[in-house]
Amino acid sequence: PKGFGFLRWRGVLTTGRVRSIVIVGGGTAGWMTAAALARVLGPDYADIHLIESDAIGTVGVGEATIPQINVFNRMLGIDENDFVRRTKGSFKLGIEFVDWGGIGQRYFHPFGDYGIDMEGVSFHSYWMRMAKAGEFTDVNDFSLMARAAYDGKFMRPIDAGNSPLSRIAYAFHFDAGLYAAYLRELAETAGARRTEGRIVDIERDGDSGHIAAAKLESGERIEGELFIDCSGFRGLLIGETLGVPYIDWRNFLPCDRAVALPCERLDSLPPYTRSTAHKAGWQWRIPLQHRIGNGHVYCSEYMSDDEAAAILTDNLDGAPLGDPRVIRFTTGHRQRFWEGNCVSIGLSAGFMEPLESTSIWMIQTGIARLLSNFPDKSFAAADRDRYNRLMVEESEFIRDFLVLHYHATTRDDSAFWDYCRNMPIPERLAEKMRVFENSGRTFREHDELFNDTSWFAVMLGQQLPVRAYDPVADLLSFEETHKRLAHIRDAVRNSADYMPAHDAYIAENCAA
Ligand code: FAD
Repeated sequence: PKGFGFLRWRGVLTTGRVRSIVIVGGGTAGWMTAAALARVLGPDYADIHLIESDAIGTVGVGEATIPQINVFNRMLGIDENDFVRRTKGSFKLGIEFVDWGGIGQRYFHPFGDYGIDMEGVSFHSYWMRMAKAGEFTDVNDFSLMARAAYDGKFMRPIDAGNSPLSRIAYAFHFDAGLYAAYLRELAETAGARRTEGRIVDIERDGDSGHIAAAKLESGERIEGELFIDCSGFRGLLIGETLGVPYIDWRNFLPCDRAVALPCERLDSLPPYTRSTAHKAGWQWRIPLQHRIGNGHVYCSEYMSDDEAAAILTDNLDGAPLGDPRVIRFTTGHRQRFWEGNCVSIGLSAGFMEPLESTSIWMIQTGIARLLSNFPDKSFAAADRDRYNRLMVEESEFIRDFLVLHYHATTRDDSAFWDYCRNMPIPERLAEKMRVFENSGRTFREHDELFNDTSWFAVMLGQQLPVRAYDPVADLLSFEETHKRLAHIRDAVRNSADYMPAHDAYIAENCAA
């Protein structure tokens, strides 16, 4: 019919939809995937079957998140208080970085934005203009998340018009083991099946090379059409079976080990993660209701396991619970996240660094992109290629942000920091640093995870030198700018004062 759009079918669809999905691995990645696919697709669309081995277990770390997890929780229909209670979690307003820009310095990378953009110019440009004149020099005064974090305050956002209380951005700390168990319950309720056992062999289809079945130690054989590799660092399907190479990023992100050791909880729970730089890496502190998660991420070329464990043990806020456990990793990612009928999600797909808590986000975005590019049985290259391109881009943007922390530092107290300060960095990051140095401007490129506020917080915090502020910040008069900043600072202060203590908020809403 003329004048109307119409579909021109090309060929006849003979392949049909995927009816069985096998998820290999029951860590955070496996159970997040199972819960999401079961919720969105449901058991009538496809059989969802997860295999995990209790003997192998999970990596057992991964306890800090970013606000995007709220989108995932909403998609699963999670009752947030129940979720925090069951995972013995706490709330997170950002990350404090200690000794990163230089020894003795600290800064806060808050969730949300500083102040509010004015006349189309970013808030931080006005702030720089004022700070250059010696006014309002503490940028934390303009972030409710930073102020509340240091005051030990927390509440969820409320509908309060222009008040910063309407824009509270938060994420969670939780116990990784309890989180997987919680997701398992959701997944099984939504119809996913689970088999416990060790996979000893993977069968492939002779013609297509696709994965056909997983064979367990017990002799059981589990067939599937779509396989999701959530087997952890080993990459049982994507690496060991399909041979997809791993792109090694240790030249940019040289840390390759972590030693983890939980300790007794603090009397009062800080609503933020702390990252403290040491001489060949850094230490995390993640406050939970029943314990503190601690770990020391380091570079084995510059530090032994024993020294790393000793530094961690010497820097705990409470008595240790158990013995230190060393975890080895290689920063980087699979050249192709999706190969044939196998999609890798979680540590099997890659691992950058826990520095900005981005791995659970990579799982989440991997699941969301799988759903929006979901294959039929033809496993068309078009879906796969798009998925792979998006996931590689996502990884590269995050990598650049992480590299910034290591590279832009004044620390010169060890061979490790000397390497980081002088290492070649990706050109896109180098350009971002030049732009900041020239005008204090930061930008969010394309759909990258971290926005201009995050880039600003870290560039400022890491003591990157800056030549001038954004010239357009002269748009408003000095007096007008001063008046507006004073107003915003007061609104942030009043909002932080209004908020309840983080401990009291948990006690009232979600105590374990
Ligand atoms: P795993 O937890 O290793 O699970 C693998 C699963 O595969 C297990 O169930 C295992 O039994 C199964 N399996 C493997 N082989 C077989 C087999 N042959 N047969 C049957 N089953 C098998 N992320 C964050 O977002 N925030 C953080 O703060 C953070 N901190 C981290 C700190 C460190 C030191 C590390 C290493 C990671 C951190 N991460 C963090 C990343 C996070 O831990 C992972 O992204 C997350 O736990 C997902 O892991 P996974 O499910 O891919 O792998």
